[in-house]
Amino acid sequence: MLVSKFGGSSLADAEQFRKVKEIVLADKNRKYIIPSAPGKRGEGDEKITDLLYQAAACRQVGSPFLHLLERIRYRYERIAQDLELDVPLEQEFTVIASKMMSGVSRDYVASRGEYLNGLLLAAYLDFPFVDAEKVIRFDRNGVLLEEDTNSLIADTLSALPNAVIPGFYGADEDGVIHTFSRGGSDISGALVARAVNADVYENWTDVTGFRMADPRIIPDAQYISSLTYRELRELSYMGASVLHEEAIFPVRRAGIPTNIRNTNDPRHPGTMIRHSADRTEPEHVITGIAGHKGFSILTIEKDLMNAETGFGRRVLQAVEECGINFEHLPTGIDTMCVVINEKELAPHREQLVARIVELTQPDSVTIHDHVALIATVGRGMVRNYGTAARLFTAISSQGISIRTIDQGSSELNIIVGVDEEDFERAVKAIYDTFVRE
Ligand code: ASP
Repeated sequence: MLVSKFGGSSLADAEQFRKVKEIVLADKNRKYIIPSAPGKRGEGDEKITDLLYQAAACRQVGSPFLHLLERIRYRYERIAQDLELDVPLEQEFTVIASKMMSGVSRDYVASRGEYLNGLLLAAYLDFPFVDAEKVIRFDRNGVLLEEDTNSLIADTLSALPNAVIPGFYGADEDGVIHTFSRGGSDISGALVARAVNADVYENWTDVTGFRMADPRIIPDAQYISSLTYRELRELSYMGASVLHEEAIFPVRRAGIPTNIRNTNDPRHPGTMIRHSADRTEPEHVITGIAGHKGFSILTIEKDLMNAETGFGRRVLQAVEECGINFEHLPTGIDTMCVVINEKELAPHREQLVARIVELTQPDSVTIHDHVALIATVGRGMVRNYGTAARLFTAISSQGISIRTIDQGSSELNIIVGVDEEDFERAVKAIYDTFVRE
């Protein structure tokens, strides 16, 4: 059985709805469908969720918002008319407007994008509509109650051969609506997939899966056909974004693969993400490259640092006291580096250095800014000799100096830091070495 989530661009207008219907009906195993709110129909268009947040913001400061609701209603009405759907949109919008007048929460307003799209899609597919407020359970602070949600979905859907369940929101025990963070319909889909023990969680979007590198840097970057959840974590942490970060946990734990598919190219198998390396050998030594700019490297030097018990703990204590998260911790004999996101460091720079000096009496503390981190990820790396050497040669043969190196102990990932101005060239060099050669 398949659980299929369709993103906003897959349901942006009637034409996209038609494609979705064709996909759903093409395989009778596609039983439970999770829609997002209508997204952009092209460059310059508006996402319904953005308009809803805008309306909620206007309402909050006492500005008019009904014209925004009108614009939203027009989008849904065009879809309904085109597809000849009989859904009482006018009534629905009267309810939304009157709830907004009486001061309902921002989350409620935002959730209507998925709710209304769910009503339309259920009517179009002729599937029952299951309101997510009945099956996705949050606590009163808006924290997901995953086990309660799991039982609610399992119980409700066991009685239904198929259904449409809108993404992105749920409710607490008092019926108050809460949403996930942006892009959270991916999480709803993963929760449904886990609860019904799907064979595959399909995530239909507007790209043909993950690519080996950012196409803005490598325009012809190859698609990755198969990926493990751990590789996905490493790549998405470093900036490769197709799926919501939190969407992988429910399905990963349940051993359910996630398949990223393209609604506009349904014959393409997309990217399959599995729990562990599958039977197929990876085509290349590396699976993907991801990275971004905006890091600082803080280097602490002290002779005989290695003999000083508790040195590292004191450095990290200073970092923690400033409320900063650190990214990496490459260490040498007499040096220790802490790689930190520049934005996080900015407000605490002086305070952090002063506290490190106070706690560790180092010989020097220096900060090197404007660093880009590049993660080269691949389950195949561990089985191949000389991967690190090839990687460093690729970068240094371009005359680029490497500022920091961190190889995860899992040998799944080598992270290098380079100056921001060298970032794109370094990514190209790595790609050329491992993929083109
Ligand atoms: N519609 C919501 C958003 O734009 C949730 C989603 O699409 O997953 O963030």
